[in-house]
Amino acid sequence: MSRSPMNDSYPLFDAHNHLQDIRFSADIAEVLHRARGLGVTYDACCGTNPDDWSAVETLASGDRRIVPSFGLHPWYLEQRTEDWLEILEAFLKRNPGAGVGEIGLDHALATRRDEEQAAVVQSQLALARRLDRPVSIHCRRAWAAILHELNKAGPLSAGFVVHAYSGSLEFVELLCARGGYISFSGSLTHPRNRRARACCVAVPEDRLLIETDAPDMMPLIAGRPPSANGRNEPGNLVVVLETVARCRERSMSRIAELTMRNARRLFRVP
Ligand SMILES: [Zn+2]
Repeated sequence: MSRSPMNDSYPLFDAHNHLQDIRFSADIAEVLHRARGLGVTYDACCGTNPDDWSAVETLASGDRRIVPSFGLHPWYLEQRTEDWLEILEAFLKRNPGAGVGEIGLDHALATRRDEEQAAVVQSQLALARRLDRPVSIHCRRAWAAILHELNKAGPLSAGFVVHAYSGSLEFVELLCARGGYISFSGSLTHPRNRRARACCVAVPEDRLLIETDAPDMMPLIAGRPPSANGRNEPGNLVVVLETVARCRERSMSRIAELTMRNARRLFRVP
């Protein structure tokens, strides 16, 4: 972490991570301590399937700076039981500050089950609407399809974020027009990812978020990962912040401030 750009003045909000991941279970306290030391003050911690929802709930109940979300990610459709949706609703009702996520569509998977993915995402969008919760969305190569599902679901009163944005400029506009937030991850720091950097510049100030997606999506500093173990950490959000600030030609403090304000609005952190 010593090679990371420093941030000692402005608090940051990691708009999407997975602190419950098994890769953090041995040293989560130290990981969070390092992140807090680098200014990462809040985490939006997303569940991915019924087997990790309890771990997300436990983490969030022990630290009010961790905002939980519960959802079924398109990679884990097989993990769902017959009563998964009722279980999800129970988690959400028990945690009134929680969002719905991570949910979405992934058309880059080797085995695609598009109809099943669409049905699962639609039922969770309906739940978010009914319970008035913000939604964290995963989308890979399914941009027209996710927009179709959002339109079919109807307005999401509590809003939504498309995390680790990898779509085109055109969809930045379409998603923002629909009230969405666009979040950028460490993939923005990869030298060849010009498209993401162009999209990052195009997002309106009040729609922009930053995230780590830790333990995945390792950012690069001058083309190299900040640590050799392959595990991304929330503290690396500073690297994403620095890249966004450079792309948009704004100061790090300005980007820190506006992404914090946006994340607090979306995740309803007073
Ligand atoms: Zn994720």
